[in-house]
Amino acid sequence: HPNLTPVAGSELKLSTTHEIDEIYARLHKTFESGVTRPLAYRRTQLLQVGRMLQDNHTLFEDALLADLNKPRIETTVAEVAHLVTSVVNAIDNLEEWAAPTPCPTKETWRSAWGATVHKEPKGVVLVISPWNAPLVLTVNPLIGAIAAGCPVVLKPSELVPTFCELISRLIPQYLDPAAYAVIKGAIPETTHALSLRWAHIFYVGNSRVGRIVATAAGRHLTPVTLELGGKSPVVIAEDIGEAEMDVVARRVWHAKLQNAGQICVAPDYALVPRSKMARFVEGLKKAHREFFPDAQKNHPLTGEIPLGNIINRTHHARLVDLLRRTKGKVVFGGETHEEKSVAPTIVTDVSVDDVLMEAEIFGPILPIIPVEDVDGAIQILNSKDNVPLVIYLFTNQEDLKHKFLERTRSGQLVLNDMIIQLVVHEMPFSGQGESGYGSWFGKATFDVFTHFRGTVNIPFSEEKGLEGRYRPYTEDKYEA
Ligand code: NAD
Repeated sequence: HPNLTPVAGSELKLSTTHEIDEIYARLHKTFESGVTRPLAYRRTQLLQVGRMLQDNHTLFEDALLADLNKPRIETTVAEVAHLVTSVVNAIDNLEEWAAPTPCPTKETWRSAWGATVHKEPKGVVLVISPWNAPLVLTVNPLIGAIAAGCPVVLKPSELVPTFCELISRLIPQYLDPAAYAVIKGAIPETTHALSLRWAHIFYVGNSRVGRIVATAAGRHLTPVTLELGGKSPVVIAEDIGEAEMDVVARRVWHAKLQNAGQICVAPDYALVPRSKMARFVEGLKKAHREFFPDAQKNHPLTGEIPLGNIINRTHHARLVDLLRRTKGKVVFGGETHEEKSVAPTIVTDVSVDDVLMEAEIFGPILPIIPVEDVDGAIQILNSKDNVPLVIYLFTNQEDLKHKFLERTRSGQLVLNDMIIQLVVHEMPFSGQGESGYGSWFGKATFDVFTHFRGTVNIPFSEEKGLEGRYRPYTEDKYEA
C-alpha cells in the first residue's frame, strides 16, 4: 500500500509536456500492436480495476476526506461500491457487448451479403474528469474504455490533488502501463493534451470548459462526450399529501446535502405550489434535525459532522455572494465559515429572475420558487433555454407523469425520488443541450468508446442479381 499524505494543490507534481507526449506515443504504439483487443486482456484489466478499488478502498476514502472533507461512507457507497458494481457488470456482459451483431435484411436476396456490425475499439482515448466525485467520474469512463479495448489517458482534476497523486500511483501499479496512464495537469497541461489527436474525448465538468473541449476536438474531428451540469429542478405537485411531504422533504434534503450540494444531479431549486411551501419547509427542517441529531453539539460548520467542504475559495466566495445578493428569504441556515463551509440553507419566495436562478448553484443552498400550480412550474421550465440534466417530479398522478414526459425536456426524468437513477447501470445517463450530450453508464459507456463498423461480404456468385446496376441501363434489365 502506498502511504497517503494529503497533497496541497500547489504541491501537485504536474506532468511535463514531454511526459504527455511520451505517454501519447506509447499508448498509440500499444494500440497499433493490437494487444488491448482480445477479450481475455480486457477482462484481466477490468479485474485489476476491481482489485485496485478493493485493495485501496481506505486510501480512496482518505484522499477524498483530505481533498473534499467527504464523509467516508459517501466515498464508499457512491464511489467505490458503485465502481465495483460497474466492473462486475462490464465483466459479466463483455462477451455480449463485444459480439458482432448481424443485421438481418428484409429482402431474402440480400441475406447472403452477411451484413454485420463489428464492435471495434476506437483507439487511444482521453478522459478529463472533475473534482466533485473524482473517483467515480475518472474510473467509470476507464471501465467502459477498457471493456471496449481502448488504451486510455486519464486527466483527473487538479483541484483534488491528493486523489490525483493517488490515482496516478495506483494505475501503473495495477494496470498495464503500456495501455493506461494518468496525466496530472491543470489548464496548461490539459490544453496541451487537447491539442493532440485522440480517438475520443470524454469530458465531465462544467459547460464553459465543455465548449473549450468541443472546440479543441473539432480541430481533429474527434468525437466527444460532454457530461455537464446545470440547474436540475424539483417539482412538487399539488396532490402531495401531508404525510407524503415529509418523505419528499427527506429525499430532497438528503440529495441536496450530498457532497455539500456539489454533485451534478443535485436538486438545484424547487418549484412548489404556494399552498404547500410552508409545509415543505417544515419537512426540510424536520429532515435536517433527523440527519444531524447532534447539530447543536457538532454544528455543521464547525463540528465533526462532515458535510463536505466547498471545493475552493472561488466557489465559496461565489456562494457567499449569492446569499448576499438574493432577494429571497433565508429561512434556514445562511451562515458561512472560514472560506470552506456554507451551512445547509433554505431560501423561500425566490423569483425566477433572482440571482440564485442565474447559474448552477453547486452548493448546499436550496431556493424555493412558489408557483400557483404544476402548470405554472411547466411554464417556468419551458421558459428557459437551458435543458436541465434532471427533472425531479413528485406526484401520485399518472397523467401528470406523462404530461412531464411530453411537455418538458431534460437529460432524465426521475419520479418521486432523488439521485437514485445513478444506481441503475442499465439505464443510459446523459444530458441534453447545455447539460451535455452522449450517453454513458454500463453498456452505453462501452458504446461510447466503440466504433460500430458495418461490414458486408458479397459473394461473387451474386453477380447475376446485381446486373441492374451496370450500364447500359437498358429496359430489359428492369422488367422483372
Ligand atoms: P473542474 O474545475 O475540476 O474541471 C473539470 C476538468 O476540466 C478538470 O480536469 C480540469 O482540469 C479541466 N479544465 C478546467 N479548465 C480547463 C480549461 N480551460 N481547458 C481545459 N481543461 C480545463 O470541475 P468543474 O467543471 O467545476 O466540475 C463541476 C461541474 O461538472 C458541474 O457543472 C457539474 O454539474 C458537472 N458534472 C457533471 C456530471 C455529469 O455526469 N453530467 C458529473 C459531475 C459533474
